[in-house]
Amino acid sequence: MPVPLFDPQPQHAVVGVEVEQAVLQVLQSGQYILGPAQQQFATQAANLLDSAHAIGVASGTDALHLALRAADIGPGDEVITPAFTFAATVEAILYCGATPVFADIDPVSLNLCPTATAQAISTRTKAILPVHLFGLPAELAALHELATEHGLWLIEDCAQSFGATVQGRPTGSWGDFGCFSFFPTKNLGGYGDGGLVTTQSEAAAERLKVLRNHGSRQRYEHHELGYNSRLDDVQAAALAVKLQYLPDFNAQRQQAASWYCQHLQDTPLQLPPTPTNATHVYGQFTVRAPQRDHLHQYLHQHGIGAAVYYPIPLHRQPLCAAMVDSELSLPVTEQVTADCLSLPMFPGISETQVQEVVRAVRSFYEGTQAD
Ligand SMILES: *Cc1c(COP(=O)(O)O)cnc(C)c1O
Repeated sequence: MPVPLFDPQPQHAVVGVEVEQAVLQVLQSGQYILGPAQQQFATQAANLLDSAHAIGVASGTDALHLALRAADIGPGDEVITPAFTFAATVEAILYCGATPVFADIDPVSLNLCPTATAQAISTRTKAILPVHLFGLPAELAALHELATEHGLWLIEDCAQSFGATVQGRPTGSWGDFGCFSFFPTKNLGGYGDGGLVTTQSEAAAERLKVLRNHGSRQRYEHHELGYNSRLDDVQAAALAVKLQYLPDFNAQRQQAASWYCQHLQDTPLQLPPTPTNATHVYGQFTVRAPQRDHLHQYLHQHGIGAAVYYPIPLHRQPLCAAMVDSELSLPVTEQVTADCLSLPMFPGISETQVQEVVRAVRSFYEGTQAD
């Protein structure tokens, strides 16, 4: 029985009827951009995320870009971030003309290492941009302290961590800005592109609203160079429905993770950590695997959808070549890109499907031992 890496259908089976009604209402209302549906969703999301303000934007990439713009980060400024993340994290920095400074990650959490971050701070550093990779929160308490001590912005990339918490507080509420994505595979996945920025600051929220709408506060008055980057009302209406089910959907991901951990603990895989003071929402279930490429190929041949997020670290991407010292070495990042593998994970994945994946992984390692 094949098991896909991601399947949106179990979620749609739960929310489909309500989503269709909500979307139909927007279609009939005639208010498609900056209408009441997006405002209602933003308010709901802000409440759930313990944030004073939430501003809907066109994508997670734009959420990061606009947050950096709202922090007035520009040419000459340095932003410390991991090289083990999706390219959008660094694209946002580059859009602003700022310089990404890559710090190494922790080999267990796979998130930005606070010690390496501290070492990367220079007189030009303006912000720390951690990523809550695969749904596991970065070390927010330590990073927050570091940012406060050095007067830096803390901008959280929460694209993979909607609903995750640290010490009971949601990711996105610790920093000056929390940047979320509603790409369909994310924890809160829409039916297209969308994003959100959270902030506790009224002034920052106002600035973000201006930036997402052509630099305009009042129609046809343009205060600065802005963008066309709003979360549209059709998308927001669908997301508002899905938001109600998010705790269930994240709990289903956690249940699947616990099945995986139970059945894979005596294999050669390094499993994701189960944090004690934080919640992991398993945007992905990512392991570190000996003979990763062979295992990946073996799973593919047996109909199991696995994927390598991410095979090339950002400091080795041509995208960053002009900005990064070619000698820069990030040993943990480089090791992890060589051995990480993400296994099927989505709300509604069944225990049978998890067992199917487990069986294939076990038979791969048993087979290689027998060689
Ligand atoms: C998905 C993702 C983004 C970008 O979000 P989009 O909505 O696709 O633009 C940014 N950072 C990380 C870590 C992501 O996973």
